Amino acid sequence: MFESLGDRLQGVFDSLRGRGRLTEDEVRAALREVRVALLEADVSLEVARDFTKRVQEKAVGSETLMSLQPDQRVIAIVHDELVELLGGKTAQPSLKNDANVWLLLGLQGAGKTTTAGKLAYKYKAQGRRPLLVAADTQRPAAREQLRVLGKQIGVPVLEVEDHETPARTRARLQEVLRTTYHDLVIVDTAGRLQIDEALMDAVAELKAELSPSETMLVIDAMTGQQSLPVAKTFDERVGVTGLIMTKLDGDARGGAALSARHVTGKPIYFAGMSEKIDGLEAFHPDRIAGRILGMGDVLTLIEKAKALEGDDEADAAATLKDFSLQDMLTQMQKIKRMGSFTEILKMIPGASRLLPPGAEIDEREIARIEAIISSMTERERRQPKLLNASRRKRIAAGSGTSVQDVNRLMKNYEQMKKVMKQLGRRPPGRGLPGRGL
Ligand code: GDP
Repeated sequence: MFESLGDRLQGVFDSLRGRGRLTEDEVRAALREVRVALLEADVSLEVARDFTKRVQEKAVGSETLMSLQPDQRVIAIVHDELVELLGGKTAQPSLKNDANVWLLLGLQGAGKTTTAGKLAYKYKAQGRRPLLVAADTQRPAAREQLRVLGKQIGVPVLEVEDHETPARTRARLQEVLRTTYHDLVIVDTAGRLQIDEALMDAVAELKAELSPSETMLVIDAMTGQQSLPVAKTFDERVGVTGLIMTKLDGDARGGAALSARHVTGKPIYFAGMSEKIDGLEAFHPDRIAGRILGMGDVLTLIEKAKALEGDDEADAAATLKDFSLQDMLTQMQKIKRMGSFTEILKMIPGASRLLPPGAEIDEREIARIEAIISSMTERERRQPKLLNASRRKRIAAGSGTSVQDVNRLMKNYEQMKKVMKQLGRRPPGRGLPGRGL
């Protein structure tokens, strides 16, 4: 997400770095580059122009140009303006104690059904009792998809019938709510490939019947800024309270997410970051601006790590002292569950700059390591010294890798073990040397 914009902006700021002072012309030239970077990220011309104008007004004051680190001042201004562009403060959908009804709208393929499942999963984990409503009266396949999702996550699904009227849907929903307690109803509505009158009428009528507390428009970020006029139409015809951007994982440019607030005036509540059921994140403008500018996003990283169970301190201390191959496997699996390696690196301040542009960490490497360690016996994992040449040959054959792969893994393991030992010896309460952590 936002990779190309991040690379471009960081390049612009690199050219300003280390200057004792900046002239007005230098700042103007840099901001022209910023504007090009925004346009290349598929931000609309109007938004890009507006953005650089605001930065320029703030930056081209004598204070900035004469300050001790003018490049830092300019970066700070760009950061603040990016936060504003993305919506300012983090916006969340309203959630009362009881009787919340959320209506999801969007074009077919935007990710509505997937997102309905993700929301139910997320809020169920927070102790809510969600009910999913499959309200596509035209496509039984769409209802089937939600039924399957609901089953996977243990959330009941109320399905409309073919051509059921919105009034009938409301009556059936009320009937269900009379007999079973649910505090969050998530309604997945019909979508079409393109906006048409019939679709707008149908969702508007359903909205009038259900009086939802939130009406969220699901937008596919991959379609870029052209998705935004569609958003405006939905808002004019049906009324939208917030946006959900899906497939940000697949969109390196991020133009839709960057322009959405400005163009529609609606906040982005969530970002879809993978196809998986847990791939929906709250949309924090400040953290995202930090990520774009290569400042990292330590808060999200910490939250992700915390969400993984079984990380108590006693465990960690024991692991550091006696780091086995089994521990190595467990750690790798935990990291994998946090998301892609490259994405994680980007959340660590400065780390993204260590990666050459366009470089991706080979996720297959993790799968290979997993396969190799899984082919070892329990005893071998605990006592790697046992791993002589013939055992290594057996493990390579068993994991579909080569003996060289196994040897490389063992070398990495020995290095990790050394580091773990050193960490384990540090007095408690002290962080890593020189990192201020
Ligand atoms: P709907 O027609 O709006 O209900 O769309 P679906 O929920 O069926 O989603 C369409 C496709 O987009 C499916 O293949 C989903 O797996 C995929 N999808 C949805 N959200 C995301 C996301 O955040 N990231 C990725 N990579 N794929 C997504």
